[in-house]
Amino acid sequence: MQVTEIATRAGQVIGRCQRLASFSEDPKTTRRTFLSAPMRECHQEIARWMQPLGAQVRIDDAGNFRGVYPALQPNAPHLLIGSHLDTVPNAGAYDGILGVVLAIALLQELRGRELPFAIEVVGFSEEEGVRFGTPFIGSRALVGRVDQQFLSVQDARGISIRKAIEDFGLNPDQISQAALAADTLGYLEFHIEQGPVLERMNLPLAAVEAIAGQSRLELIFLGRANHAGTAPMNIRYDAVAGAAEWIGSVERVAQQIQGLVATVGNIEAKPGAANVIAGEARMTLDVRHSADNIRIRAVEDLVRQANEIATRRGLSVRETSLLSQPAVAMSPFLIGEIEKAIVKTGCQPHRMVSGAGHDAMIMAEKVPSAMIFLRTPGGISHDPAESVAQQDVEKAIECGLHLLDQLAAPEFFKRKNRA
Ligand SMILES: [Zn+2]
Repeated sequence: MQVTEIATRAGQVIGRCQRLASFSEDPKTTRRTFLSAPMRECHQEIARWMQPLGAQVRIDDAGNFRGVYPALQPNAPHLLIGSHLDTVPNAGAYDGILGVVLAIALLQELRGRELPFAIEVVGFSEEEGVRFGTPFIGSRALVGRVDQQFLSVQDARGISIRKAIEDFGLNPDQISQAALAADTLGYLEFHIEQGPVLERMNLPLAAVEAIAGQSRLELIFLGRANHAGTAPMNIRYDAVAGAAEWIGSVERVAQQIQGLVATVGNIEAKPGAANVIAGEARMTLDVRHSADNIRIRAVEDLVRQANEIATRRGLSVRETSLLSQPAVAMSPFLIGEIEKAIVKTGCQPHRMVSGAGHDAMIMAEKVPSAMIFLRTPGGISHDPAESVAQQDVEKAIECGLHLLDQLAAPEFFKRKNRA
């Protein structure tokens, strides 16, 4: 393959991502939620790109785009490559979308060459959780985790997932047909890093080794509301002062544990007036790490510290666990193959943990899954300023082509059959 051709292809990938960003529910910015009208335009555009490649395209009953590029033999197993097509409000052009467009670029670069497996490009209908407050609707359908109860979840307008699927012209009762075939070989996802790590390391690509586990809690410090002018400093039960002390220790604990991130992202004081000592301070705590035992121990330690601080100040603490999601390891075999492919592009391989959740985490429940991160300029994402460098997209295409060649070797099939 010619270097200039890859550069042209990378430029086309970026152009196509920007084109898809124009299919939006909002007039001036990008917002494309689950099965909204612009999602249909997005599907039609991608179908126009894929059909000339000999791919069979369909929309499954969870609203996922599925395009199958044929294998050498009929009825060969599928290797899935993709990401999500929905966006957050005021989105950039690359989060999710890049992974779908890059998959199509790989098929273009195969130039009609067929491999021992079919390549199925998947564009998930929903990953961000914007419309229904619950993420991964698309990939959950592929692993068979969409049931009646899940379909009855409603959006802000009272429309259920079931109704949204029907309104799009699909059949929620046939959603089980979206499920992965038993002989599916695996799932690969290219995605922007959405953080500053690769930029700091001056590397274009990384293999994701795990998706971090996550704990989310609500903590409430309870004190006694009183007059800000008449209550002396030594006779106060100030909930916000206790909370502030604790927030400082959250940051210190996270800084001391390698790979741990901990965030108090929301705080609310009650009654919430300038001249009243707060009787209540309500906070969220989000803790993530690739090792579940480290994460769980950190959360226990932070809750214990909250209680110590409260006791010393004559306050009390109430904590509620909102989420405890285990870490998900990516396929060690695929990680190794991705690293080999990265080396073949002339780059240094790097393994990293994804602090954000991705479809690959859901797909890993059923098939060997892996992710390749692309450097994100400024670490900026979920914003119109989100971008990706053309040279990095070139490296991603090269990496993907090497990876497909490696996986086309008989060893991959032998491994899969043993697994
Ligand atoms: Zn994403």
